[in-house]
Amino acid sequence: MIRPCGIREGNRQMVIILKETAENPITLMGERAGVCWGGDTDHKEKNYKRGLECIASGHHRVMEYVNVEMILDGYSARVIREWYTHIGGAPTRLQASTRYINYKNFSYTTPPSVAENPEAERIYRDTMSAIAEACSRLERDCKIPREDAAMLLPLGMSTKIVDKRNVRNLIEMSHQRRCTRAYWEYRLLMDDICQALSAYSEEWKYLVEHYFVPKCEVSGYCTEKKSCGRKPYRP
Ligand SMILES: Cc1cc2nc3c(=O)[nH]c(=O)nc-3n(C[C@H](O)[C@H](O)[C@H](O)COP(=O)(O)OP(=O)(O)OC[C@H]3O[C@@H](n4cnc5c(N)ncnc54)[C@H](O)[C@@H]3O)c2cc1C
Repeated sequence: MIRPCGIREGNRQMVIILKETAENPITLMGERAGVCWGGDTDHKEKNYKRGLECIASGHHRVMEYVNVEMILDGYSARVIREWYTHIGGAPTRLQASTRYINYKNFSYTTPPSVAENPEAERIYRDTMSAIAEACSRLERDCKIPREDAAMLLPLGMSTKIVDKRNVRNLIEMSHQRRCTRAYWEYRLLMDDICQALSAYSEEWKYLVEHYFVPKCEVSGYCTEKKSCGRKPYRP
């Protein structure tokens, strides 16, 4: 999915769902559960129904059989740093190198608060240009290796990762990161992932609509001290 957005400088964000992602996640969950229940796993509709029952009943171990592989491209290194905190289920990923890629003209994210303020936007843009220029001069004029000049690169720079995890992890993540307390760019990233998965198949659309929700929708109350008021706060 390509979502052009005015708040990013020279940058486009994309979530690409790779073909290794299970196309029929609910049916797959039901098929795996059926093995253990002595069920008829050759019957697609029965597998689908069994999968739905499993997730509705909270038997979420079955979600761990559903693989999600995707490319996240153009998001800031900062949001990807937060992405890496979701470790349940041993996810894995590769990230664009800061040793081999030339970041002479790196693209970056500009937060809305900065983009809306002309003075702030100018300071921000000039700083990014100064960093890019300093990296180039260190390499070109001072013969500093790229891997060392890259120490100057900012967290706002765009990066790219290839990510692999199971859907249980991704649903857990959505509870945290669709909460209004989550970092704004992470919430946009979650929206992009939800849209990309919904477009992948009807079963994904169902999962996203029913399970990729903020944590207050799961518990019925809010646990965040600085609550947005969507649900009553309960410490
Ligand atoms: C509003 C907000 C503010 C934040 N602020 C900060 C911050 O300032 N600094 C910071 O570092 N992080 C911060 N975070 C990140 C947060 O602390 C977590 O690291 C992040 O949400 C991922 O953890 P998780 O439990 O949600 O997901 P996962 O790590 O994917 O875990 C999911 C579930 O798997 C299980 N699990 C995972 N690992 C283990 C384990 N080792 N042992 C047993 N069970 C396990 C648990 O049941 C867990 O609930 C913030 C997050 C939010 C939403």
